[in-house]
Amino acid sequence: MSGNASELIDKLGVIVGPSHVLTDPELTDGYVADWTGRWRGRTAAVVRPGSTDEVAAVVAACGAAGVAIVPQGGNTGLVGASVPHNGEVVLSTRRLVGVEVDLVGRTLSAGAGVTLADAQRAAASAGLVLGIDLGARESATLGGVVATNAGGLRVVRYGSTRSQVAGVEAVLADGSVLRRWTGLVKDNVGYDLPGLLTGSEGTLAVITRVLFRLADPPADVTTVLAGVPTLAAAHDVVARLRHHDYPIEAAEYFYNEGLELVCAQLGLRRPFAAAYPVYVLCEVSGRDVESVAETLASMPDLVADATLDAAPAERLWAYRESHPEAVNAAAAERGVAPVRVDVAVPLGRHVDLEDAVRDAVTARFPGVEVVTFGHLAEGNSHTTLLGVPLEDADEATEIVLRLVAERGGSISAEHGVGLAKRQWLGLQRSDVDVATMRAIKQALDPRGVLSPSTLLP
Ligand code: FAD
Repeated sequence: MSGNASELIDKLGVIVGPSHVLTDPELTDGYVADWTGRWRGRTAAVVRPGSTDEVAAVVAACGAAGVAIVPQGGNTGLVGASVPHNGEVVLSTRRLVGVEVDLVGRTLSAGAGVTLADAQRAAASAGLVLGIDLGARESATLGGVVATNAGGLRVVRYGSTRSQVAGVEAVLADGSVLRRWTGLVKDNVGYDLPGLLTGSEGTLAVITRVLFRLADPPADVTTVLAGVPTLAAAHDVVARLRHHDYPIEAAEYFYNEGLELVCAQLGLRRPFAAAYPVYVLCEVSGRDVESVAETLASMPDLVADATLDAAPAERLWAYRESHPEAVNAAAAERGVAPVRVDVAVPLGRHVDLEDAVRDAVTARFPGVEVVTFGHLAEGNSHTTLLGVPLEDADEATEIVLRLVAERGGSISAEHGVGLAKRQWLGLQRSDVDVATMRAIKQALDPRGVLSPSTLLP
């Protein structure tokens, strides 16, 4: 930390209380490395403000001292954006709590440090649903979800996080507080600032409170896990379910290689006696389990076997949701961090992309295992390469990202750019686009106080 560190730490202690400024490396350790284990930074202090005013004072004090900040929620992000790479102060939002549901306005307002799971439970106990869900729900915070514009398991039904944000309160880099909090469905007065902060990865403001739209929960939800011969068949299953007028609540996929890892690492029994190349996990609503079973039985050309359960069907979801953990465990056994990419292509190019990735990666790195799973309805592949030597990780990543860019896809579908992908921004964004983003950053954070290692090269 540059400047007079101990003076700043004293000042932060006065703002938030000394017990909420952590400086002991044993206490800060969990804040300087991320969930993937790939990113490890360093910090002189983790500061844990308990209110918006305290966040504002912390940001102003750091700015005045010329010390940068990295906002951090649940630290479940996968692109290295929540880690202090260059000794930044970590501003942990986890004490920004409190949730309220407005039944008339059908909104949920909450502190940025509330976990996604707690927010889901609050919405459910009011008879409504928050249309955002992801595997890290018990740790990921609402501030992190908004800052990353998280996607997840319900995008097919409700859209990404941005489409559900109705308001934001945030502290800007100079310590001022921006509040756009109308909750109105119609409000066209000026630029969409909540939309801008959504997906800004901690580079434009520290989000302190969020306001989400809620929806009615779907009725009669059935979860289907089906074994199919190809990824193309998995897409066709979803298309035919749509054709039969089923509302699709979720549509996910994984391959047999991933299922093998999940069953071995987590001790789960295989879902079917036989193995199938691809599995599609789908949730549909509006009809009973028997009707869904009949519909699936009318697709013998696509569905080799299927098992169905009324939601929440945790047993079936475990096969899909355990993939990140199983892949991590498999990588640890191999002693080298996995290369992870989160990409999306137009649906019509999805099969072609996955074939091309497998061919290109195994041609360049024979023996590397390619484990892919993801969000089928958005053509969103989470591809993990197991066994790529650390020094070749960038080359392997670039191979995949170039194939994605050539197919008109996104090099970061839902996890963000962070540090992990900022060197490849130019593959997908033009010079004018990057310059516009830089101008926004410069206008809102001219001194580079917020997350200077994230997003913009
Ligand atoms: P952090 O990891 O703490 O931070 C992530 C980014 O947000 C950083 O740039 C950080 O600086 C910034 N940030 C955090 N809080 C704030 C704030 N209050 N104000 C400003 N900036 C802030 N992601 C998906 O999109 N879809 C998935 O399906 C999905 N599944 C996952 C499954 C697993 C098992 C894991 C480990 C992760 C998964 N993720 C997924 C990634 C991750 O959970 C999301 O990106 C999540 O939104 C991060 O929330 P967080 O609170 O952990 O944020």
